[in-house]
Amino acid sequence: MGRDAPFSWHNPYRLGSGYFVTEKFEVRLKRIHRLSESTLDFRFDRNDDKPVLFEPGQFFRFVFTDAAGDFERSYSLCNYGKDVSGSSCLDLVISFVEGGRASQYLFHCQEGITATVSGPFGRLLIPETLPGRLFLVATSVGIAPFMPILTALSPALQRKEVEVILLFGARSRDEFLYREELLAIQQRYDYFTLVMCYSREVLTDQQPHERRGYVTDQLGSFSPNPDSDHFLLCGNPQMIDDCFGLLREFGFKAKQVVREKYVFAKETKVKVKKKLTKEQKELIVEKMKKFQ
Ligand SMILES: Cc1cc2nc3c(=O)[nH]c(=O)nc-3n(C[C@H](O)[C@H](O)[C@H](O)COP(=O)(O)OP(=O)(O)OC[C@H]3O[C@@H](n4cnc5c(N)ncnc54)[C@H](O)[C@@H]3O)c2cc1C
Repeated sequence: MGRDAPFSWHNPYRLGSGYFVTEKFEVRLKRIHRLSESTLDFRFDRNDDKPVLFEPGQFFRFVFTDAAGDFERSYSLCNYGKDVSGSSCLDLVISFVEGGRASQYLFHCQEGITATVSGPFGRLLIPETLPGRLFLVATSVGIAPFMPILTALSPALQRKEVEVILLFGARSRDEFLYREELLAIQQRYDYFTLVMCYSREVLTDQQPHERRGYVTDQLGSFSPNPDSDHFLLCGNPQMIDDCFGLLREFGFKAKQVVREKYVFAKETKVKVKKKLTKEQKELIVEKMKKFQ
């Protein structure tokens, strides 16, 4: 099933190295669409109408402006179907975070708001050489980068060049994002398996693709094999640490398990802003003197 030749999904905009140069540009919100009670889909358009160049799986940094000023947040691109790359739009899937600044701003904004965007960034990419099995593991909006990845993989799925297993975790059936699209992919390709895990749904009429519990509980049933499998993990940081811990026990190395944690901005800031006490500062000054 694995291939020797490097994988290419025929993106006309792809550079030789497979990575795009980081750009900075202005965007305007074109439309908002509700996906679930806690999740909205936002379509932004480049003001200069140039194509948005990215590898499926990558993210962009958005600088928004609210009453308190500018602030930055990262979002994976969820362009899929025909619009994977080459169009001037950026599709984002964003879930509401209680007390979050971006959530407050975006879930109450109107079409027409603007932002400054930079990107693309990230290493959550389809490996250049396709493995025997590619596992995509996501929770909630962590599905976003996997939609363009699945679009890009459809020729390879059609030709049965790779087996793709999507383990997708959500609280309930209502939060099963892209249900129709994912079930259609499952229907279309023999080499695609969807396992939907609900942490809070009581399944009285369980469907073949449904499980109760967490994605982590499902990993073992696939007997992960470091010789033939590659993992892309995206979403909740705890899920990612748990899965990675488990995969290490199966013998996987870090480069075989690419991880994208959707860490909250405030948590990053707390780390950066942590102030030193007077005693700590004096200690550092003392230590520095020894090296002068
Ligand atoms: C590379 C990358 C890609 C990302 N892509 C996406 C994406 O595609 N879609 C998306 O929705 N988000 C994505 N995120 C997260 C996104 O950048 C923001 O952090 C998120 O939208 C929340 O922003 P906020 O300003 O509303 O909340 P913040 O101000 O960032 O944080 C709010 C605070 O609330 C607390 N909190 C509240 N509710 C929760 C909760 N349920 N779980 C944990 N902590 C909570 C946290 O402690 C946090 O400190 C991505 C993050 C990264 C790093």
